[in-house]
Amino acid sequence: MSRDVSLYSPDRSTERSQELLERARGVIPGGAQTNSKSPSQFVRGVSPTHAERAEGSHFWDIDGNEYIDYLMACGPAILGYSHPAVDDAVRDQLNHGSMFSLPHALQIEVAEAMVELVPCAEMVRFGKNGNDVTALATKLARAYTDRDVIATAGYHGWPDVFLSASDSARGIPAGVGEYTKRFGYNDIESVREIFAEHPENVAAIIATAASAETPEDGFLEDLRELADEHGALLIFDEVFTGFRFALGGAQELFGVTPDLACFAKAMANGYPISAIAGRRDVMQTLEEPGVTFSMTYAGEAASLAATKATLEHLRSNEDEVYGRIFTVGDAIREGFNDLAADHGIDHRTSAFGIAPRVVTRFTDAEGDHDTHAKSLFLQEAHKRGVFLSGSHIPSAAHTDEDIRHTLEVYDRVLKILAEAIENDDIEERLEGKPVGTSIRERTGDR
Ligand code: PMP
Repeated sequence: MSRDVSLYSPDRSTERSQELLERARGVIPGGAQTNSKSPSQFVRGVSPTHAERAEGSHFWDIDGNEYIDYLMACGPAILGYSHPAVDDAVRDQLNHGSMFSLPHALQIEVAEAMVELVPCAEMVRFGKNGNDVTALATKLARAYTDRDVIATAGYHGWPDVFLSASDSARGIPAGVGEYTKRFGYNDIESVREIFAEHPENVAAIIATAASAETPEDGFLEDLRELADEHGALLIFDEVFTGFRFALGGAQELFGVTPDLACFAKAMANGYPISAIAGRRDVMQTLEEPGVTFSMTYAGEAASLAATKATLEHLRSNEDEVYGRIFTVGDAIREGFNDLAADHGIDHRTSAFGIAPRVVTRFTDAEGDHDTHAKSLFLQEAHKRGVFLSGSHIPSAAHTDEDIRHTLEVYDRVLKILAEAIENDDIEERLEGKPVGTSIRERTGDR
Protein backbone atom coordinates (compact mmCIF):
# COMPACT_ATOMS: atom_id res chain seq x y z
CA MET A 1 0.00 0.00 0.00
CA SER A 2 1.58 3.30 -1.03
CA ARG A 3 1.83 6.24 1.30
CA ASP A 4 1.51 9.73 -0.10
CA VAL A 5 2.53 11.27 3.20
CA SER A 6 5.70 10.13 4.94
CA LEU A 7 4.91 8.19 8.07
CA TYR A 8 7.41 10.13 10.10
CA SER A 9 6.47 13.55 8.86
CA PRO A 10 4.59 15.22 11.69
CA ASP A 11 3.52 18.09 9.42
CA ARG A 12 0.32 16.68 7.97
CA SER A 13 -2.53 19.10 7.52
CA THR A 14 -6.01 18.31 8.81
CA GLU A 15 -7.40 21.62 7.55
CA ARG A 16 -10.41 20.15 5.73
CA SER A 17 -11.21 18.01 8.74
CA GLN A 18 -11.33 21.09 10.95
CA GLU A 19 -13.54 22.92 8.41
CA LEU A 20 -15.92 19.97 8.25
CA LEU A 21 -16.08 19.86 12.03
CA GLU A 22 -17.20 23.49 12.09
CA ARG A 23 -19.91 22.70 9.53
CA ALA A 24 -20.93 19.56 11.43
CA ARG A 25 -21.25 21.54 14.66
CA GLY A 26 -23.85 23.78 12.98
CA VAL A 27 -26.24 20.93 12.23
CA ILE A 28 -25.17 17.92 14.34
CA PRO A 29 -25.13 18.23 18.15
CA GLY A 30 -21.75 16.95 19.33
CA GLY A 31 -20.55 16.89 15.72
CA ALA A 32 -20.84 13.08 15.34
CA GLN A 33 -23.23 10.17 15.86
CA THR A 34 -21.06 7.89 18.00
CA ASN A 35 -19.49 9.04 21.24
CA SER A 36 -16.26 7.16 20.58
CA LYS A 37 -15.87 8.74 17.14
CA SER A 38 -16.70 12.27 18.27
CA PRO A 39 -14.14 15.10 18.27
CA SER A 40 -14.14 15.07 22.08
CA GLN A 41 -12.31 11.73 22.01
CA PHE A 42 -9.37 13.14 20.07
CA VAL A 43 -7.24 16.29 20.08
CA ARG A 44 -9.49 18.95 18.62
CA GLY A 45 -7.65 21.04 16.03
CA VAL A 46 -5.00 18.38 15.36
CA SER A 47 -6.65 14.97 14.96
CA PRO A 48 -8.60 14.15 11.81
CA THR A 49 -12.37 14.46 12.28
CA HIS A 50 -13.77 12.84 9.13
CA ALA A 51 -12.79 9.70 7.21
CA GLU A 52 -13.15 9.38 3.45
CA ARG A 53 -12.30 5.77 2.63
CA ALA A 54 -10.81 2.68 4.22
CA GLU A 55 -9.19 -0.54 3.09
CA GLY A 56 -7.68 -3.37 5.11
CA SER A 57 -6.18 -1.90 8.29
CA HIS A 58 -5.79 1.63 6.90
CA PHE A 59 -8.04 4.62 6.34
CA TRP A 60 -7.69 7.97 4.63
CA ASP A 61 -9.07 11.14 6.17
CA ILE A 62 -10.81 13.93 4.30
CA ASP A 63 -7.45 15.70 3.76
CA GLY A 64 -5.99 12.59 2.08
CA ASN A 65 -3.78 11.56 5.01
CA GLU A 66 -3.30 7.82 5.45
CA TYR A 67 -3.47 6.12 8.86
CA ILE A 68 -2.87 2.68 10.31
CA ASP A 69 -6.15 2.30 12.19
CA TYR A 70 -6.42 0.78 15.66
CA LEU A 71 -9.99 1.90 16.32
CA MET A 72 -11.39 -0.20 13.44
CA ALA A 73 -14.77 1.54 13.46
CA CYS A 74 -14.97 0.81 17.24
CA GLY A 75 -14.60 -2.92 16.67
CA PRO A 76 -16.71 -4.14 13.74
CA ALA A 77 -14.01 -4.32 11.04
CA ILE A 78 -12.54 -7.61 12.27
CA LEU A 79 -11.52 -8.81 8.81
CA GLY A 80 -10.34 -5.36 7.74
CA TYR A 81 -12.22 -2.65 5.86
CA SER A 82 -13.77 -3.32 2.44
CA HIS A 83 -13.32 -7.07 2.77
CA PRO A 84 -14.19 -8.54 -0.67
CA ALA A 85 -16.00 -11.68 0.60
CA VAL A 86 -18.32 -9.58 2.78
CA ASP A 87 -18.84 -6.64 0.43
CA ASP A 88 -19.51 -8.94 -2.55
CA ALA A 89 -22.14 -10.81 -0.52
CA VAL A 90 -23.82 -7.48 0.29
CA ARG A 91 -23.72 -6.36 -3.37
CA ASP A 92 -25.23 -9.69 -4.46
CA GLN A 93 -28.01 -9.36 -1.91
CA LEU A 94 -28.73 -5.77 -2.98
CA ASN A 95 -29.43 -7.05 -6.47
CA HIS A 96 -32.36 -8.94 -4.96
CA GLY A 97 -33.41 -6.36 -2.38
CA SER A 98 -32.68 -5.78 1.28
CA MET A 99 -36.11 -5.08 2.80
CA PHE A 100 -39.24 -7.11 2.20
CA SER A 101 -42.76 -7.47 3.59
CA LEU A 102 -41.92 -10.93 4.93
CA PRO A 103 -38.83 -12.33 6.65
CA HIS A 104 -36.01 -13.47 4.36
CA ALA A 105 -34.65 -17.03 4.75
CA LEU A 106 -31.20 -15.59 5.57
CA GLN A 107 -32.56 -14.96 9.08
CA ILE A 108 -32.81 -18.72 9.63
CA GLU A 109 -29.43 -19.46 8.04
CA VAL A 110 -27.61 -16.92 10.20
CA ALA A 111 -29.48 -17.98 13.36
CA GLU A 112 -28.52 -21.61 12.64
CA ALA A 113 -24.88 -20.63 12.10
CA MET A 114 -24.86 -18.81 15.44
CA VAL A 115 -26.41 -21.80 17.20
CA GLU A 116 -23.55 -23.92 15.83
CA LEU A 117 -20.81 -21.48 16.79
CA VAL A 118 -21.84 -19.90 20.10
CA PRO A 119 -21.88 -22.17 23.20
CA CYS A 120 -24.95 -20.58 24.87
CA ALA A 121 -26.99 -20.20 21.66
CA GLU A 122 -30.09 -22.36 21.27
CA MET A 123 -32.23 -19.60 19.74
CA VAL A 124 -31.41 -16.20 18.23
CA ARG A 125 -33.17 -12.89 17.53
CA PHE A 126 -31.71 -9.98 15.60
CA GLY A 127 -31.59 -6.25 16.21
CA LYS A 128 -29.65 -3.38 14.68
CA ASN A 129 -27.48 -2.04 17.51
CA GLY A 130 -25.83 -3.44 20.59
CA ASN A 131 -28.27 -1.36 22.64
CA ASP A 132 -31.26 -3.19 21.20
CA VAL A 133 -30.11 -6.53 22.47
CA THR A 134 -28.53 -5.54 25.79
CA ALA A 135 -31.78 -3.77 26.75
CA LEU A 136 -33.78 -6.78 25.53
CA ALA A 137 -31.61 -9.17 27.56
CA THR A 138 -32.48 -7.33 30.79
CA LYS A 139 -36.15 -7.26 29.89
CA LEU A 140 -36.22 -10.97 29.03
CA ALA A 141 -34.45 -11.80 32.30
CA ARG A 142 -36.98 -9.78 34.28
CA ALA A 143 -39.93 -11.33 32.45
CA TYR A 144 -38.52 -14.87 32.71
CA THR A 145 -37.64 -14.70 36.42
CA ASP A 146 -40.47 -12.37 37.41
CA ARG A 147 -37.91 -10.35 39.36
CA ASP A 148 -36.72 -6.74 39.18
CA VAL A 149 -33.05 -6.16 39.98
CA ILE A 150 -30.39 -6.04 37.29
CA ALA A 151 -26.80 -6.27 38.55
CA THR A 152 -24.52 -4.56 36.06
CA ALA A 153 -20.91 -3.46 35.57
CA GLY A 154 -19.27 -1.46 32.79
CA TYR A 155 -20.79 -0.11 29.58
CA HIS A 156 -23.72 -1.83 27.86
CA GLY A 157 -25.08 1.05 25.79
CA TRP A 158 -27.34 4.02 26.48
CA PRO A 159 -30.68 2.42 27.49
CA ASP A 160 -32.11 3.86 30.72
CA VAL A 161 -31.82 0.51 32.49
CA PHE A 162 -28.03 0.88 32.42
CA LEU A 163 -27.37 4.63 32.55
CA SER A 164 -29.93 5.22 35.33
CA ALA A 165 -27.21 4.04 37.71
CA SER A 166 -24.27 6.00 36.28
CA ASP A 167 -22.87 9.53 35.97
CA SER A 168 -24.76 9.88 32.68
CA ALA A 169 -28.29 9.76 34.12
CA ARG A 170 -29.61 13.18 33.08
CA GLY A 171 -32.97 12.83 31.33
CA ILE A 172 -33.81 9.62 33.22
CA PRO A 173 -36.35 9.89 36.06
CA ALA A 174 -34.77 9.00 39.42
CA GLY A 175 -37.11 6.04 40.04
CA VAL A 176 -35.94 4.23 36.92
CA GLY A 177 -32.61 3.40 38.57
CA GLU A 178 -34.20 1.83 41.63
CA TYR A 179 -33.68 -1.69 40.37
CA THR A 180 -30.32 -1.22 38.62
CA LYS A 181 -27.40 -2.04 40.89
CA ARG A 182 -23.78 -1.61 39.88
CA PHE A 183 -21.02 -3.94 40.93
CA GLY A 184 -17.27 -3.76 40.36
CA TYR A 185 -15.72 -5.85 37.62
CA ASN A 186 -13.52 -8.53 39.22
CA ASP A 187 -15.05 -7.66 42.61
CA ILE A 188 -17.16 -10.70 43.42
CA GLU A 189 -17.92 -9.41 46.92
CA SER A 190 -19.78 -6.46 45.41
CA VAL A 191 -21.95 -8.93 43.47
CA ARG A 192 -22.60 -10.98 46.61
CA GLU A 193 -23.74 -7.80 48.37
CA ILE A 194 -26.36 -7.14 45.69
CA PHE A 195 -27.76 -10.66 46.15
CA ALA A 196 -27.72 -10.22 49.94
CA GLU A 197 -29.51 -6.85 49.76
CA HIS A 198 -32.15 -8.07 47.30
CA PRO A 199 -32.97 -11.63 48.25
CA GLU A 200 -35.07 -13.45 45.65
CA ASN A 201 -35.28 -10.31 43.54
CA VAL A 202 -32.17 -10.31 41.31
CA ALA A 203 -33.28 -11.11 37.76
CA ALA A 204 -29.84 -11.13 36.15
CA ILE A 205 -26.20 -10.27 36.27
CA ILE A 206 -25.07 -8.58 33.05
CA ALA A 207 -21.36 -8.19 32.40
CA THR A 208 -18.82 -8.10 29.64
CA ALA A 209 -16.79 -11.29 29.97
CA ALA A 210 -13.76 -9.05 29.37
CA SER A 211 -13.40 -5.38 28.40
CA ALA A 212 -10.57 -3.06 29.33
CA GLU A 213 -9.97 -5.45 32.20
CA THR A 214 -9.53 -9.18 31.86
CA PRO A 215 -11.33 -11.49 34.26
CA GLU A 216 -9.31 -12.60 37.25
CA ASP A 217 -9.10 -16.34 37.83
CA GLY A 218 -12.47 -17.66 38.91
CA PHE A 219 -14.41 -14.36 38.51
CA LEU A 220 -16.61 -15.49 35.61
CA GLU A 221 -17.07 -18.94 37.18
CA ASP A 222 -18.12 -17.25 40.45
CA LEU A 223 -20.65 -15.10 38.56
CA ARG A 224 -22.08 -18.27 37.01
CA GLU A 225 -22.25 -19.98 40.39
CA LEU A 226 -23.85 -17.00 42.16
CA ALA A 227 -26.49 -16.64 39.46
CA ASP A 228 -27.34 -20.36 39.69
CA GLU A 229 -27.39 -20.36 43.46
CA HIS A 230 -29.87 -17.46 43.55
CA GLY A 231 -32.04 -18.39 40.57
CA ALA A 232 -30.87 -15.38 38.52
CA LEU A 233 -29.72 -15.39 34.90
CA LEU A 234 -26.19 -14.70 33.73
CA ILE A 235 -25.98 -12.44 30.68
CA PHE A 236 -22.71 -11.80 28.84
CA ASP A 237 -22.57 -8.59 26.85
CA GLU A 238 -20.50 -9.86 23.92
CA VAL A 239 -21.24 -6.81 21.75
CA PHE A 240 -17.50 -6.18 21.61
CA THR A 241 -16.02 -9.61 22.43
CA GLY A 242 -18.35 -11.72 20.25
CA PHE A 243 -16.55 -13.33 17.27
CA ARG A 244 -13.49 -11.24 18.24
CA PHE A 245 -12.03 -12.98 21.28
CA ALA A 246 -12.72 -16.38 19.69
CA LEU A 247 -15.11 -17.77 17.08
CA GLY A 248 -17.51 -18.72 19.89
CA GLY A 249 -16.90 -15.40 21.68
CA ALA A 250 -15.42 -14.66 25.09
CA GLN A 251 -17.67 -17.37 26.55
CA GLU A 252 -15.75 -19.92 24.51
CA LEU A 253 -12.34 -18.41 25.29
CA PHE A 254 -12.96 -18.32 29.05
CA GLY A 255 -15.06 -21.50 29.18
CA VAL A 256 -18.05 -20.02 31.03
CA THR A 257 -21.46 -20.30 29.38
CA PRO A 258 -24.06 -17.60 30.14
CA ASP A 259 -27.84 -17.99 29.80
CA LEU A 260 -28.06 -15.14 27.30
CA ALA A 261 -25.45 -13.30 25.24
CA CYS A 262 -25.57 -10.12 23.16
CA PHE A 263 -23.66 -9.71 19.90
CA ALA A 264 -23.12 -6.89 17.42
CA LYS A 265 -19.86 -5.35 16.21
CA ALA A 266 -17.68 -8.09 14.72
CA MET A 267 -20.52 -10.28 13.46
CA ALA A 268 -20.95 -8.51 10.11
CA ASN A 269 -17.59 -6.77 9.57
CA GLY A 270 -19.22 -3.34 9.77
CA TYR A 271 -22.78 -3.78 8.55
CA PRO A 272 -25.50 -2.82 11.02
CA ILE A 273 -26.83 -5.85 12.84
CA SER A 274 -26.94 -7.22 16.37
CA ALA A 275 -28.21 -10.44 17.94
CA ILE A 276 -29.29 -11.92 21.21
CA ALA A 277 -28.64 -15.63 21.63
CA GLY A 278 -29.36 -17.96 24.49
CA ARG A 279 -31.26 -20.69 26.23
CA ARG A 280 -34.39 -21.87 24.44
CA ASP A 281 -36.67 -21.57 27.49
CA VAL A 282 -35.52 -18.01 28.20
CA MET A 283 -35.66 -16.92 24.56
CA GLN A 284 -39.17 -18.37 24.22
CA THR A 285 -40.34 -15.82 26.79
CA LEU A 286 -40.56 -13.61 23.69
CA GLU A 287 -43.52 -15.72 22.56
CA GLU A 288 -45.46 -14.96 25.74
CA PRO A 289 -48.11 -12.22 25.91
CA GLY A 290 -46.89 -8.86 27.13
CA VAL A 291 -43.21 -9.29 26.16
CA THR A 292 -42.49 -7.13 23.12
CA PHE A 293 -39.37 -6.77 20.98
CA SER A 294 -39.93 -5.64 17.41
CA MET A 295 -38.34 -3.26 14.94
CA THR A 296 -38.81 -2.48 11.26
CA TYR A 297 -35.21 -2.95 10.22
CA ALA A 298 -34.25 -6.05 12.23
CA GLY A 299 -33.86 -8.82 9.69
CA GLU A 300 -32.77 -6.48 6.89
CA ALA A 301 -31.18 -8.81 4.36
CA ALA A 302 -28.00 -6.98 3.25
CA SER A 303 -26.67 -7.01 6.83
CA LEU A 304 -27.68 -10.65 7.20
CA ALA A 305 -25.80 -11.47 3.98
CA ALA A 306 -22.78 -9.63 5.45
CA THR A 307 -23.12 -11.65 8.67
CA LYS A 308 -23.35 -14.93 6.80
CA ALA A 309 -20.23 -14.09 4.76
CA THR A 310 -18.31 -12.87 7.83
CA LEU A 311 -19.13 -15.96 9.89
CA GLU A 312 -18.25 -18.25 6.98
CA HIS A 313 -14.93 -16.47 6.52
CA LEU A 314 -14.17 -16.60 10.25
CA ARG A 315 -15.07 -20.26 10.39
CA SER A 316 -12.97 -21.36 7.42
CA ASN A 317 -9.98 -19.19 8.42
CA GLU A 318 -10.30 -19.52 12.19
CA ASP A 319 -6.64 -20.19 13.04
CA GLU A 320 -5.36 -17.55 10.67
CA VAL A 321 -7.76 -14.78 11.79
CA TYR A 322 -7.48 -15.28 15.55
CA GLY A 323 -3.77 -16.05 15.29
CA ARG A 324 -3.25 -12.69 13.57
CA ILE A 325 -5.41 -10.74 16.02
CA PHE A 326 -3.48 -12.18 18.98
CA THR A 327 -0.10 -11.68 17.26
CA VAL A 328 -0.87 -8.01 16.56
CA GLY A 329 -2.36 -7.26 19.98
CA ASP A 330 0.44 -9.00 21.88
CA ALA A 331 3.14 -7.32 19.77
CA ILE A 332 1.65 -3.85 20.31
CA ARG A 333 1.19 -4.35 24.07
CA GLU A 334 4.68 -5.77 24.60
CA GLY A 335 6.30 -3.29 22.21
CA PHE A 336 4.57 -0.31 23.85
CA ASN A 337 5.60 -1.40 27.34
CA ASP A 338 9.22 -2.07 26.29
CA LEU A 339 9.44 1.38 24.68
CA ALA A 340 7.87 3.07 27.71
CA ALA A 341 10.53 1.37 29.86
CA ASP A 342 13.33 2.35 27.42
CA HIS A 343 12.25 5.99 27.72
CA GLY A 344 11.97 5.72 31.49
CA ILE A 345 8.23 6.47 31.67
CA ASP A 346 6.75 3.04 32.36
CA HIS A 347 5.54 4.40 35.72
CA ARG A 348 3.46 6.98 33.78
CA THR A 349 2.11 4.95 30.89
CA SER A 350 1.46 1.32 30.04
CA ALA A 351 -0.49 -0.92 27.70
CA PHE A 352 -2.53 -3.76 29.12
CA GLY A 353 -5.38 -6.12 28.33
CA ILE A 354 -5.90 -9.25 26.31
CA ALA A 355 -4.73 -9.05 22.66
CA PRO A 356 -8.10 -8.39 20.93
CA ARG A 357 -8.33 -5.12 22.89
CA VAL A 358 -5.11 -3.59 24.20
CA VAL A 359 -5.72 -0.45 26.24
CA THR A 360 -3.21 2.31 26.99
CA ARG A 361 -3.16 4.07 30.32
CA PHE A 362 -1.59 7.46 31.09
CA THR A 363 -1.20 8.63 34.67
CA ASP A 364 0.19 11.70 36.42
CA ALA A 365 2.80 11.66 39.17
CA GLU A 366 0.06 10.86 41.71
CA GLY A 367 -1.17 7.89 39.67
CA ASP A 368 -4.42 9.58 38.52
CA HIS A 369 -5.67 9.39 34.93
CA ASP A 370 -3.74 12.06 32.96
CA THR A 371 -5.80 13.46 30.09
CA HIS A 372 -3.03 15.79 28.98
CA ALA A 373 -0.43 13.04 28.69
CA LYS A 374 -2.93 10.92 26.75
CA SER A 375 -3.69 13.90 24.49
CA LEU A 376 -0.01 14.53 23.77
CA PHE A 377 0.43 10.86 22.89
CA LEU A 378 -2.61 10.87 20.58
CA GLN A 379 -1.59 14.20 18.98
CA GLU A 380 1.90 12.97 18.09
CA ALA A 381 0.70 9.50 16.98
CA HIS A 382 -2.06 10.95 14.76
CA LYS A 383 0.40 13.39 13.21
CA ARG A 384 2.56 10.40 12.26
CA GLY A 385 -0.22 8.26 10.79
CA VAL A 386 -1.11 5.95 13.68
CA PHE A 387 -4.75 6.36 14.65
CA LEU A 388 -6.17 5.31 18.00
CA SER A 389 -8.27 6.81 20.76
CA GLY A 390 -6.72 4.86 23.59
CA SER A 391 -7.36 1.22 22.76
CA HIS A 392 -5.85 -0.94 20.05
CA ILE A 393 -8.41 -3.14 18.33
CA PRO A 394 -6.47 -5.40 15.98
CA SER A 395 -8.00 -6.93 12.86
CA ALA A 396 -7.05 -9.85 10.65
CA ALA A 397 -5.82 -7.24 8.13
CA HIS A 398 -3.10 -5.68 10.31
CA THR A 399 0.27 -6.69 8.88
CA ASP A 400 3.73 -7.16 10.35
CA GLU A 401 4.63 -3.98 8.48
CA ASP A 402 1.83 -2.15 10.33
CA ILE A 403 3.24 -3.38 13.65
CA ARG A 404 6.75 -2.28 12.70
CA HIS A 405 5.60 1.21 11.59
CA THR A 406 3.46 1.58 14.68
CA LEU A 407 6.26 0.74 17.09
CA GLU A 408 8.67 3.05 15.26
CA VAL A 409 6.15 5.84 15.63
CA TYR A 410 5.56 4.96 19.29
CA ASP A 411 9.31 5.11 19.89
CA ARG A 412 9.31 8.72 18.68
CA VAL A 413 6.08 9.64 20.42
CA LEU A 414 7.03 8.14 23.79
CA LYS A 415 10.36 9.98 23.55
CA ILE A 416 8.44 13.25 23.16
CA LEU A 417 6.22 12.33 26.12
CA ALA A 418 9.29 11.47 28.22
CA GLU A 419 10.83 14.87 27.42
CA ALA A 420 7.56 16.60 28.26
CA ILE A 421 7.33 14.76 31.59
CA GLU A 422 10.96 15.61 32.33
CA ASN A 423 10.43 19.31 31.49
CA ASP A 424 7.00 19.39 33.09
CA ASP A 425 5.54 21.03 29.97
CA ILE A 426 3.01 18.49 28.62
CA GLU A 427 0.21 21.06 28.44
CA GLU A 428 2.32 23.63 26.56
CA ARG A 429 3.05 21.04 23.88
CA LEU A 430 -0.60 20.45 23.11
CA GLU A 431 -1.55 22.01 19.78
CA GLY A 432 -5.28 21.50 20.26
CA LYS A 433 -7.99 20.92 22.82
CA PRO A 434 -7.30 17.82 24.97
CA VAL A 435 -9.48 14.73 24.95
CA GLY A 436 -12.55 14.61 27.19
CA THR A 437 -13.84 11.69 29.22
CA SER A 438 -15.69 8.98 27.35
CA ILE A 439 -19.04 7.43 28.18
CA ARG A 440 -17.18 4.21 28.93
CA GLU A 441 -15.11 6.01 31.55
CA ARG A 442 -18.29 7.51 33.01
CA THR A 443 -19.74 4.00 33.41
CA GLY A 444 -16.55 2.77 35.07
CA ASP A 445 -15.33 0.72 32.11
CA ARG A 446 -11.80 2.02 32.02
N1 PMP B 1 -22.05 -3.12 24.94
C1 PMP B 1 -20.73 -3.01 24.71
C2 PMP B 1 -19.77 -3.88 25.47
C3 PMP B 1 -20.26 -2.09 23.77
O1 PMP B 1 -18.95 -1.98 23.54
C4 PMP B 1 -21.21 -1.28 23.08
C5 PMP B 1 -20.76 -0.26 22.04
N2 PMP B 1 -19.59 0.37 22.26
C6 PMP B 1 -22.57 -1.45 23.35
C7 PMP B 1 -22.95 -2.38 24.28
C8 PMP B 1 -23.62 -0.65 22.62
O2 PMP B 1 -23.65 -1.08 21.30
P1 PMP B 1 -24.20 -0.09 20.12
O3 PMP B 1 -23.34 1.12 20.15
O4 PMP B 1 -24.07 -0.90 18.88
O5 PMP B 1 -25.63 0.19 20.45
